[in-house]
Amino acid sequence: RKGCVIVTGASSGLGLATAKALSETGKWHVIMACRDFLKAEKAAKSVGMPKENYTIMHLDLASLDSVRQFVDNFRRSGRPLDVLVANAAVYQPTAKEPSFTAEGFEISVGTNHLGHFLLSRLLLDDLKQSDYPSKRLIIVGSITGNTNTLAGNVPPKANLGDLRGMAGGLNGINSSAMIDGGEFDGAKAYKDSKVCNMLTMQEFHRRYHEETGITFASLYPGCIATTGLFREHIPLFRLLFPPFQKYITKGFVSETEAGKRLAQVVSDPSLTKSGVYWSWNKDSASFENQLSEEASDVEKARKVWEVSEKLVGLA
Ligand code: NDP
Repeated sequence: RKGCVIVTGASSGLGLATAKALSETGKWHVIMACRDFLKAEKAAKSVGMPKENYTIMHLDLASLDSVRQFVDNFRRSGRPLDVLVANAAVYQPTAKEPSFTAEGFEISVGTNHLGHFLLSRLLLDDLKQSDYPSKRLIIVGSITGNTNTLAGNVPPKANLGDLRGMAGGLNGINSSAMIDGGEFDGAKAYKDSKVCNMLTMQEFHRRYHEETGITFASLYPGCIATTGLFREHIPLFRLLFPPFQKYITKGFVSETEAGKRLAQVVSDPSLTKSGVYWSWNKDSASFENQLSEEASDVEKARKVWEVSEKLVGLA
């Protein structure tokens, strides 16, 4: 049978390129989990995805009710779940004030981390039940949360501190909107959310890999400077960022190439190792990359897991 993979945020950028790459193999049915149904339908058509190889289902990660509803809908579809890709993200580098999810969490951490945390926890049971030869849960990471890299050292740097803002609910009312309890900074909130993504992948691995055989992985697909992620940045940045990445840092990767990389992590029989953060070298060969100290801190991973469980209503 075909494998069944859920890709969140498949309406643009990396998610769309990955959905396209997988659907074209004919070996996968892709569930495009998107907040804007019409946009996703248009996107799938515009890149020529074979109609029989995808289904669009509504998911707004900025609402925990929507996450639960999505899980119900998916289960009602009767399809097995073989791979889950947590890809969607918001990035608000120029926001002066925080905005919030339906439950009142700062929106970058709320969407990128907490929405995906609940989704992954709920769908773990479905993954367990799959009889597919290689079941995987992939959480897209980033270099920007990795302070052991050049890009990760561009201020403001990721730092979760002692999680006091997160423990307080990230609501900007009786707690800070930032995980570390500091003043709101949209770019930092995004980086912090990516650190949570990478810590969550490793905590899943420690808690569930042996028992379930599921492969838990994260990756940095390269700098895809052309995606919608930078839509809220100032115009000059958006103009100069792609050529800067192409010619100066040489970290630039096209959406198509990045999509192939993520599709590889979904389906390549050689990428079954669990607990790994994948990157690619200049020749587009994959290798196991090192995470920064904070992004591989075992104690912090456990704390993020426990606080997140409380915030999404699992504990
Ligand atoms: P895009 O902005 O192109 O894609 C983000 C996707 O997430 C869109 O489909 C968007 O939906 C979706 N999304 C946003 N908010 C929600 C929500 N509340 N519910 C459901 N879906 C939502 O960015 P990229 O493709 O660049 O980003 C994809 C992933 O790649 C992210 O995890 C990002 O951190 C990571 N990444 C990107 C890099 C880059 O250089 N671009 C580098 C490293 C990692 P909609 O279309 O409706 O807006």
